[in-house]
Amino acid sequence: MKPTVAVLGRAEQRIQAGHLWIYKSDVLEVDAAPGDTVTVLGARGRPIGQALYSDRSQIALRLLSHGAEPADAALWRRRLESAIAFRGTLTIDATAYRLVHAEGDLLPSLIVDRYGDYLVLQSLSQGVERLLPTITGLLVELLAPRGILARNDVKVRALEGLDPRVELLHGEVPPSIPVREGPVEYEVDPWKGQKTGLFLDQRENRAAAAEYARGRLLDCFSYNGGFAMRLAPHCDEVTAIDISADAVARIAANAARNHLPQIQAREANVFDELRRLEREGERFDTIVLDPPAFAKNKASVPKALSGYRDINLRALRLLTPGGTLVTCSCSYNVDEATFGQVVHEAATDALVHVNVVEKRMQGRDHPVLLGVPETYYLKCFILRRLA
Ligand code: SAH
Repeated sequence: MKPTVAVLGRAEQRIQAGHLWIYKSDVLEVDAAPGDTVTVLGARGRPIGQALYSDRSQIALRLLSHGAEPADAALWRRRLESAIAFRGTLTIDATAYRLVHAEGDLLPSLIVDRYGDYLVLQSLSQGVERLLPTITGLLVELLAPRGILARNDVKVRALEGLDPRVELLHGEVPPSIPVREGPVEYEVDPWKGQKTGLFLDQRENRAAAAEYARGRLLDCFSYNGGFAMRLAPHCDEVTAIDISADAVARIAANAARNHLPQIQAREANVFDELRRLEREGERFDTIVLDPPAFAKNKASVPKALSGYRDINLRALRLLTPGGTLVTCSCSYNVDEATFGQVVHEAATDALVHVNVVEKRMQGRDHPVLLGVPETYYLKCFILRRLA
């Protein structure tokens, strides 16, 4: 017998509205093992589709196909081919980018990033974990990478009852991979770097920000200097700040590699540093705020909002009239309208007028799936201070 999971009518409605998830609270009856690909049954036992089943997560089912369409290796192959082909149409000027953005590519809970000749993936559900040998085989066949690394040391896996693990799945993956993003060269550590090595979702926003950058630049939450290096050729002086000593060492090494002596990297807490710079009467013509997700869950939203308000207020005060603020939020729990509201409040408190020059989001290689709001997480506003 094929494994099945029967669900409530409201789960069926959610699927009809375009979402891919069914919550545990909407599950009626389970005749399946953890990680099975199951047939989801709706009212009167009618098949709604095939889905990945998890017995631990609040997200019990992640839909792979509708109706009776089988979710077999052929489906995984078609979805992977389609995701890869889409990236081929984007004329990405980089050797590192996202090939598979999970739900955004109808490949729920699977992330695959390309770094030159290597792939780094993340398996974020029991179902994908079970299918890793098949997925690895398909990726080898479709892309012939020199190596595939699983960066499965992410916290969300705990919600699925999966261990944190970094594991070589195919070939070899070196501790340092040279990649290029536009004019910038990086050495990426896929084994230990944050996320899968780089913040690939900001690539297009870095390029967009470069159009406005000039004068003195302050790059806050710089990690390995992504914005600083892309913007530096347009600026006279660049200060890049990160709280991690490791990140600061990386910024310095990347600046040297890219012959950008105008970049100074400093280890500091942005919240304190913005206050200090204000006290000292410093001014900047371009400021980037790219903090980590302040709101990791709903409960932390109020605190997150006050954090966003604080840094945006300070940054707007430090900005010269006519200057550009590039301000980001990667908290899914703070939506675009709320983030816009917070930035507006910051401008009001700073007694400045601000133009919205561009409203941007994660790069096109991280596609949003309409119907699954969770796939839209990164907001990036480019603002101009008027007076
Ligand atoms: N802008 C980067 C990505 C930033 S990720 C890019 O384009 O690639 C967020 C970074 O913020 C991390 O490197 C983390 O070390 C740093 N960070 C977190 N809290 C901080 C704080 N309070 N002050 C300074 N840096 C912080």
